[in-house]
Amino acid sequence: MRRTCLISLLFIGQFIAPSLGAQDTAMHTATTSPEIPVPANVNTTSWMKDSAAKLQHELTGKYGEGQMPRLTRGLRQVEEFWRPEDGGAGEFEDFVRTNFAGDQATLDTMFNRFERLLEQLDGHMHEISREFRQQMDLDLGPVLPFDEVFGGYDPSAHVLDDFFRNKLAFTILLNFPLTTLDERLKDGPAWSRRQWAEVRLAQRFSKRLPAEVSLAIAQAEAESGQYIAEYNIWMYHLLDAQGQRLFPPNMRLLSHWNLRDEIKSEYADARNGLAKQRMIQLVLERIVTQTIPQAVINNPGVDWNPYSNEVKPAAAKDSDAAVPVSGLTNAREPDTRYAMLRKTFVASREADAYSPTEPTLIARRFDEDREIPEARVKAMLEQVVTSPLVAQTAKLIQARLGRPLEPFDIWYNGFRPGSSYSEAQLDGLVEKRYPTAAAYQEDIPNLLARLGFSPERARYLANHIAVDPARGAGHAMAAQMRAEKAHLRTRIDKNGMDYKGFNIAVHEMGHNVEEVFSLNEVDHTLLQGVPNTAFTEALAFVFQGHDLELLGLPAPDARSEAEKTLNDFWGTYEIAGVALLDMAVWHWMYDHPQATAHELNQATVEIAKDIWNRYYAPVFHQKDIVLLAVYSHMISSFLYLPDYPIGHLIAFQIEEQMKKAGAIGPEFERIAKMGRVTPDLWMESATGHPVGAEALLDATGQALAELNAPR
Ligand SMILES: [Zn+2]
Repeated sequence: MRRTCLISLLFIGQFIAPSLGAQDTAMHTATTSPEIPVPANVNTTSWMKDSAAKLQHELTGKYGEGQMPRLTRGLRQVEEFWRPEDGGAGEFEDFVRTNFAGDQATLDTMFNRFERLLEQLDGHMHEISREFRQQMDLDLGPVLPFDEVFGGYDPSAHVLDDFFRNKLAFTILLNFPLTTLDERLKDGPAWSRRQWAEVRLAQRFSKRLPAEVSLAIAQAEAESGQYIAEYNIWMYHLLDAQGQRLFPPNMRLLSHWNLRDEIKSEYADARNGLAKQRMIQLVLERIVTQTIPQAVINNPGVDWNPYSNEVKPAAAKDSDAAVPVSGLTNAREPDTRYAMLRKTFVASREADAYSPTEPTLIARRFDEDREIPEARVKAMLEQVVTSPLVAQTAKLIQARLGRPLEPFDIWYNGFRPGSSYSEAQLDGLVEKRYPTAAAYQEDIPNLLARLGFSPERARYLANHIAVDPARGAGHAMAAQMRAEKAHLRTRIDKNGMDYKGFNIAVHEMGHNVEEVFSLNEVDHTLLQGVPNTAFTEALAFVFQGHDLELLGLPAPDARSEAEKTLNDFWGTYEIAGVALLDMAVWHWMYDHPQATAHELNQATVEIAKDIWNRYYAPVFHQKDIVLLAVYSHMISSFLYLPDYPIGHLIAFQIEEQMKKAGAIGPEFERIAKMGRVTPDLWMESATGHPVGAEALLDATGQALAELNAPR
């Protein structure tokens, strides 16, 4: 799995998929609807019931009554996925007779062999992908058109289909248990490691999507993604009430990321910053409510006053990309944003009938991907947004800004750790030390020793990590089998590595160390990894937070730490509301499956206002603000947004545990080799507590005390 980490945009990437090449992108509780296709197994049940009863009698006689519960479960699981093209009664009965492991020795052999062979499959598939992406990922000269085709090819795309076709998937379903999240949470703590590995083995085959359903999901994802990727605002063409252009020529900002980040950077402009921030807020609101004129989207050929909503042909030219609009009007964007969101919903819902243990997208997202029940996630997020620490932090921000808060201050970015070194000083230090990727590779044992790993462990880790020169900013790539190394891709310029590159390399090295332990030191490769992306990010941040010490410089002081904590807390407060909105909108869609794009627009706006009025208006003293609904992920990412705030909470829990433990090395190894059990079980073993908001809130309380203390 390739992991790119943007420091400002945490926890992007995908959850570690529990299934082989699963196509299903995302998902909640079943709501009946005329658009849901009939599951394939309905056609086969007429003979299947009789066959199953016959087999149950026959095989219990053969293997003993003790095998009855396993057999009953196995037959039910096979029935759920069997389709007419898999065969008739004769083939079904032969398959079960041949493949039911009726004694422990056969079952053990089957388990061990599948574990070994699936590791080989995953490992080699990944090896092919890594090689095929090499030219695109590494700094190795020009990328030719065919390199991109190699890079986009996924050799494992059809493995799941193949395994159902050759019936290896049915062998698993006949012998190992499918589980619900409820069972994993309730019974999981008492399971042996082998039982956990069996559960993960079966989960790989818990869904069987027909090709047309996978295709519909992929198409909705591509179409909405394309819509988002081309949604630019040309800033030079925004006019204020006096007809003035506040932004420079050629500034093209992608919604929502660039527009939000422009609000952040305008805090530095003492003269015009506030006017620009207010104008961007208005643009964002018009995108959400779809009162934005269609003609101004991605078009430098039109001047637009977002206050009056007037449009006219551009009076000044800054780009050849201008598209002439005949009969120019300010006709609004016709709910396209919500039509795109609705498409992702309609496509996702088609998968519901083929996913018996998680029959909605909401259930698949929370129960399958995150493995934290939605109700608990909601409670944790509400704990953050209703915390009294929000008002205290807001007061500090207000004092620093010297004015009352405005709604766009949810993106306040003034909490910054002070540094006694300039970026240039740090660049000089790093360049000298790491002129090449090989120089960094050679220094890994030394860096790890500084983080508290024993010389033996540091050498062992260094031997399992290969450093390559990256084309982009850098990323970590885990191995999928024990014979392979993890890869650390890092940016090396002509003069060598710069400080930013070093900071990222240390973060990626944290991923690599987690990856090496969680693959090579875990007791079952079926449990390889961590519960989800948030966990590996949290572990990578532990490394990254010590980057100055790795350069032999003093660690950040208490005030710097406090600034960083408040920055994270304010960011979590903001993104928690966005996540609550994403969740509520998906529920609304499942409750109103026939709603039009326009109705979805109105509902989203109402839900956004409601969440704002409950958790933000008390601090910002303005009501009915819709800004929380501007995130592009909401339109094209299938209920992904809750990952961000959950990630922040997990990061604080792990950081606190590392502080308690003192030396990072041994503690990092202990927790990284627990493998992919549920997040709560993992966190209980790591810290003694389930996943929760307390660590973040405690740290925030201390940070406020530190910053409010007289200097
Ligand atoms: Zn990362």
